[in-house]
Amino acid sequence: MPRVYMDANATTPLLPEVLEAMRPYWMEHFGNASSIHLDGQKAHKAVDHARETLARLFNCRAAEVVFNSGGTEGDNTAIFGMLRPGDHFITTSIEHSAVLRAAERVAERGVETTFIAPLPSGLIDPEEIKRALRPETRLISVMLANNETGVIQPVEEIGRIAAEAGAFFHIDAVQGAGKVKFDVQRFGCHLLTISAHKMHGPKGVGALYVRRGTPLEAQVVGGSHERRRRAGTENVPGIVGLAKAAELAMQSLEDGTQERVAALRDRLEAGILALPGTGVNGGSVPRAANTTNIWFDQVEGEALVIALDLKGVAVSGGSACHSGSTEPSHVLLAMGLNKNRARASLRFSLLKTATETDVDHVLRVVPEAVGHLRALSPVAAGTAG
Ligand code: PLP
Repeated sequence: MPRVYMDANATTPLLPEVLEAMRPYWMEHFGNASSIHLDGQKAHKAVDHARETLARLFNCRAAEVVFNSGGTEGDNTAIFGMLRPGDHFITTSIEHSAVLRAAERVAERGVETTFIAPLPSGLIDPEEIKRALRPETRLISVMLANNETGVIQPVEEIGRIAAEAGAFFHIDAVQGAGKVKFDVQRFGCHLLTISAHKMHGPKGVGALYVRRGTPLEAQVVGGSHERRRRAGTENVPGIVGLAKAAELAMQSLEDGTQERVAALRDRLEAGILALPGTGVNGGSVPRAANTTNIWFDQVEGEALVIALDLKGVAVSGGSACHSGSTEPSHVLLAMGLNKNRARASLRFSLLKTATETDVDHVLRVVPEAVGHLRALSPVAAGTAG
């Protein structure tokens, strides 16, 4: 049975070029980038080169790139590193848990947080952010692309609002890499988080853009790595892999990959929507090219995830970080879906290497699986509301 992986927003495999780029840095060039001998210098040079690549991805100076362990660390650092008791923080109710849990933590330390709910479309209305501003608002954090719906947020407008208010602005751009052209100048952000494993790079490595002069307190202290903004011996192979993935992500914005993925996603979506009792969450606004989030009436989302897995298709209900829990997605609930519909929603997120054959396979098995579950459904039989 073929296996089709449509859970790219959870994680992606390394591209062969990424693995090849990393390979020498495990054994051959294993040096510590802080050592002054030749082995250290080789590692240091690789990290410097990677920093230049990331600076091109972000459109910033190399000195403004801080390597770290990924999206969770970037989000946590932005929030813990910027906020002090008495500050006001504005974020949204559809952020990743790396932002939401950090917001809860700073709330315990006397930082008041306003969570902006999305419109039913999944978009955050910048006017709502403007209305939430207070003189003591120090930080605004809004994601670029939502991990569950793919909805792309109006970060440029939010950046302008932050600038007018004199607030700092952090963007969780983990799901945007290779899907949206980054430009931290145009976005007007002071901080921006990315993670390698969402863009065909290795897990456990990422980067945080920190605009020059941003008073960010380091959260990991020790040696003087990363200009004292993040201590710890650099993960050289990981950083090299992140940079290669970033290079390929930039390419895929220019070489028609995104248009190709969008066309596949649209065909997949149209095929599934031909089933009665289905619809797209967040389908009316700009979305990442690879993502569609679809509700299926009279189906339990988790049962459908399992049924599709048995038929060789990997997708996700809610976000991967919440799998194992039966709570409906906080993102879909915030968009106004009722619990049943939120629970009956699935995320299909295509790899950039997805093919027509992948889509054909999914379009063959989804109607079978949905039909089977509906036939068994107590809701369909009229025994449960
Ligand atoms: N932010 C968003 C929007 C994400 O989708 C994720 C991962 O799912 C993260 C942050 C966390 O990134 P990482 O897995 O690199 O810690």
